[in-house]
Amino acid sequence: MDHNQQLFERAQKVIPGGVNSPVRAFRAVGGTPRFVQRAQGAYFWDANGKKHIDYIGSWGPMILGHGHPAVLEAVQKAALDGFSFGAPTEREVELAEAILELVPSIDMVRLVSSGTEAGMSTIRLARGATGRKTIIKFEGCYHGHADALLVKAGSGLATFGNPTSAGVPPEVVQHTLVLEYNNVEQLEAAFAQHGADIACLMIEPIAGNMNFVRASVPFMKRCRELCTQHGALLAFDEVMTGFRVALGSAQSVYAQLIPGFEPDMTVMGKVIGGGMPLAAFGAKRAVMEHLAPLGGVYQAGTLSGNPVATACGLATLREIRKPGFFEALSARTQSLVAGLAAAANEAGVPFRGDSQGGMFGFFLLDHLPQNYAAVMKTDGPRFNRFFHGMLNRGVYFAPALYEAGFVSAAHTEADVAETVAAAKEVFASL
Ligand SMILES: *Cc1c(COP(=O)(O)O)cnc(C)c1O
Repeated sequence: MDHNQQLFERAQKVIPGGVNSPVRAFRAVGGTPRFVQRAQGAYFWDANGKKHIDYIGSWGPMILGHGHPAVLEAVQKAALDGFSFGAPTEREVELAEAILELVPSIDMVRLVSSGTEAGMSTIRLARGATGRKTIIKFEGCYHGHADALLVKAGSGLATFGNPTSAGVPPEVVQHTLVLEYNNVEQLEAAFAQHGADIACLMIEPIAGNMNFVRASVPFMKRCRELCTQHGALLAFDEVMTGFRVALGSAQSVYAQLIPGFEPDMTVMGKVIGGGMPLAAFGAKRAVMEHLAPLGGVYQAGTLSGNPVATACGLATLREIRKPGFFEALSARTQSLVAGLAAAANEAGVPFRGDSQGGMFGFFLLDHLPQNYAAVMKTDGPRFNRFFHGMLNRGVYFAPALYEAGFVSAAHTEADVAETVAAAKEVFASL
């Protein structure tokens, strides 16, 4: 009896598509989603009791692996003191202070419950603070499912976008400009045409929602210069990259490449909650003071700064701040990508991978794509065969080729070796 199949059939009767977030449904790769029974360290066990090496880690939050003892203890202790009060707590202040210490571009931060909420509130705040309407986003970047952000490029260069979801009226996205990632010319054209109306430019500095695509240094430099020149706010969506690619997040990686570089606003989530519903957005004081109750931009949340979630996030941040944490995580991630590349090479399968900190991506191509259209030209059926081959061997990669992967501190060199050994077999069969 296949318990995953049984659960999926039951789930589909009561939950649309049987899942509470679409990518979990395996639509891109086909087959039956694995229902997770429990997880520990780098592994999870599905409803059939089968063990998997987990390279998703809840899509990023589980940077320490599952069930880290210090995090578990903090969560259990916090739960005993109460789940939610609707009144402020000391841990919210502590978490805000910790975020500010690690991300110097942020002077003040507001805690919320999901990345979607944080991204949506950042847009509202940027518009409120600048008194402008237009926002820029890039094709292939995901900033949560707020209406104004569910948009794809329109027909012409630097034109306004079209909704990507039913239920989003075109009027709602008429102020969203959708541009090609890493395309400096389009960026310049958009600012030349709309510069005075642009409230913010929102970007995933290392895009993790079209596999793994870095913003090039010249492109990022131009984003910064044009925002400054036109009085627009540069908003980094670091929901995925925050505390994942480096202790100082992706902005610290770009600050090393571009002297003095800083975004104006930062959106965070995933790792800062350590697996609990917690996200945040922050900016310079002058921008954040536009937020209620200080200013006129409304934003609120019943469960914002939840005491159990903040305990989980704080305990997670405490661990990743320990000396050598990111060096070890980066080395493990690099060794995974190098091992996969060697295995593909041996089998004559084209392969290019990249990683930063504990986040990685790979393409069955001989080059790294630089934008969404290029990512989407990759060999889907071949990736799907690779995915299922690995899954059968107990290695769980993201069930779609346009998603990034994640290594945790709990992954060992032996896990990497087991993964690479499985990949050798699978690549040979492609
Ligand atoms: C996951 C993600 C979001 C949305 O966060 P949720 O908590 O799923 O709402 C936003 N932006 C980026 C870059 C993400 O990876």
